[in-house]
Amino acid sequence: MANIFNFSAGPAVLPKEVLKQAADEMLDYKGSGMSVMELSHRGKEFTQIIEQAEANLREILAIPANYHVLFLQGGASLQFAMIPMNLMVKNKKADYVHTGEWSKKAISEAKRFGTVNVVASSEKDNFTYIPELNPAKFSKDADYFYIVTNNTIYGTEYKEIPQTGDVPLIADMSSNILSAPIDVSKFGLIFAGAQKNIGPAGMAIVIIRADLVGKAADTVPSLMNYKIHVENKSLFNTPPCYTIYIAGLVFEWIKKQGGLAAMEKRNREKAEILYDYLDRSSLFRSPVKPECRSLMNIPFVTGNEELDNKFIAEASKRGLKTLKGHRTVGGMRASIYNAMPKEGVEALVQFMKEFEKSNKK
Ligand SMILES: *Cc1c(COP(=O)(O)O)cnc(C)c1O
Repeated sequence: MANIFNFSAGPAVLPKEVLKQAADEMLDYKGSGMSVMELSHRGKEFTQIIEQAEANLREILAIPANYHVLFLQGGASLQFAMIPMNLMVKNKKADYVHTGEWSKKAISEAKRFGTVNVVASSEKDNFTYIPELNPAKFSKDADYFYIVTNNTIYGTEYKEIPQTGDVPLIADMSSNILSAPIDVSKFGLIFAGAQKNIGPAGMAIVIIRADLVGKAADTVPSLMNYKIHVENKSLFNTPPCYTIYIAGLVFEWIKKQGGLAAMEKRNREKAEILYDYLDRSSLFRSPVKPECRSLMNIPFVTGNEELDNKFIAEASKRGLKTLKGHRTVGGMRASIYNAMPKEGVEALVQFMKEFEKSNKK
C-alpha cells in the first residue's frame, strides 16, 4: 500500500485505526452477519451505535444536559439555511461576522429570511485575520450572533470567543470541532460538517441549546425543523447510518488518545512545526496574521505561481498529497486535522526544506 500523507481540507484524513476497525467489521458487524450499511436504522445494533456515538461526543466535548445533539443530513451548508429558518424568527434580524467564503455563503442564505447585520469583516484584506469586534456595533435585538470559528480556506481561527450577552452565539465549527476543548455553554448552537474532523461527508452534527428548539414557523418543512429532529432523536427519516457509525469510531479514537486536551496538545505541536519553519523560510511564507493562525488549516505561498505548482507536483510524487490551496487564495494549504500524525507534518517540512534549497529565489 502506498504510504502517503493526505493534507486535504475535506473530505479529509481519518485515523488509520478507525479505518482498520471499519474494515474488520465490514462483512459482519458484531456477529450480526451484516455490514453496518445493511442494518435497520430502528434495529438494536444501530440504536446502540447512534446512542453510543452521542454519549461519547457528549463526554469528550463535556456537553451540558440542556443541549441536544443531532446528526443531520445536508452537510454544513444546509445549516446556513436551517439556522435562520429556525432562529431568525422574533425580530427577523441577526449579526454575522464575515471572515471568508463560508461566512459569505451563510450570510447570503440568512438574507432570504431577514435582516443581516455584518458587524465586522476582514474581506478588504483577503480574510488574512479575524477582524476586531466592537460590541457597540452588535444589535441588542438580534435573534442570534453568527461566527465561523475556523476559516478552512483562509487559515484563520478565533482565539477568543465573542461575548454576546443574551443574544445566542451560533458557531460554524466545521473545521475545528474536536481539535481542542471548548466551553459549549457559551454557545446557543454549534454545528459542523462531518468531513473534516469527524468522519465521512454528507452529515452535520448540531449541538443546540434546548430553549432554542421549537421556534420555527409552521411553514418550515419538517426535515428543516430542529424540533422534529429532537423529538425523533435524529431518526425522523433514515439517517446517514454509516457516517454516524464512523463518527462514533472517531469519537472512541479521540477518547483513547486522551480526549480533547491531548488532541489540542498534539495539534499545537504539529502546527508549531510548520509555522516555525514558515516564519524562518526565505522561500515560503504564511499570509495569515500570526495572532489569528489556525491550528487546522495552514495556507502558505512562495509568491510565484509557477513555483507553487512545481512544489505541489513534486510533493505529490513524494507522497505528500492534496496540498493545493483553495482557488481564491492560490498557493498551498496543509490541512492538519486530528487524524494527521505529527510524522506527516515533519515529512512535509523536511520536503519544504529540500525544495527551498534547490529552488532559491
Ligand atoms: C467545509 C465547510 C463547510 C461546508 O460543508 P459542507 O458539508 O460541504 O456543506 C462549511 N463551513 C466550513 C467552516 C467548512 O469548512
